Amino acid sequence: MNAVKRYFSSIFNAIVALLKGMRLTGSYLLHPSKILTQQYPENRETLYIPERFKGRVYMPHDENNEHNCTACTLCQLACPNGSIQIISKNIELPDGTKKKVLDRWVYNLGSCTLCQLCVDACPSDAIVMDNAFEFSVYNKSKLIFDLNRPGSKLKEKKTEPQV
Ligand code: SF4
Ligand code: SF4
Repeated sequence: MNAVKRYFSSIFNAIVALLKGMRLTGSYLLHPSKILTQQYPENRETLYIPERFKGRVYMPHDENNEHNCTACTLCQLACPNGSIQIISKNIELPDGTKKKVLDRWVYNLGSCTLCQLCVDACPSDAIVMDNAFEFSVYNKSKLIFDLNRPGSKLKEKKTEPQV
């Protein structure tokens, strides 16, 4: 008897839940100004992406095309799936000594899981998570980027980079 009661009670609960959902849908039909969904991509100009949304790893540069990356490779070591390759080179300083600097910060967005472990591992705040998101491509090889800009270099004194 209990099983029969449970059976009909679950049907009743399902109908109540359905009616609640239909009531909400009906209210949006009668008051379209309340609609929260967005017509993308038509609204691209006014689209709001929350600041904390993670779309990619990004390297900020300042107005002098300088960044904070020292090519220490800690981010590469922290990445669980090999999405980062730090390529460094040695340059000669005016006093004749050699210094290791960043040559290329190669980022594979196609394999990145946006876990942020690289950002957390960076001791220089050289990289951040960015909320850009439009990266659809037909070929995954197009999702491999150099994050350091052409001609950029390490800041002499670390300051807050401008995005
Ligand atoms: S966000 Fe995670 S997966 Fe992506 S590059 Fe950084 S550590 Fe690797
Ligand atoms: S981004 Fe940060 S952790 Fe990665 S190589 Fe540059 S300074 Fe090191």
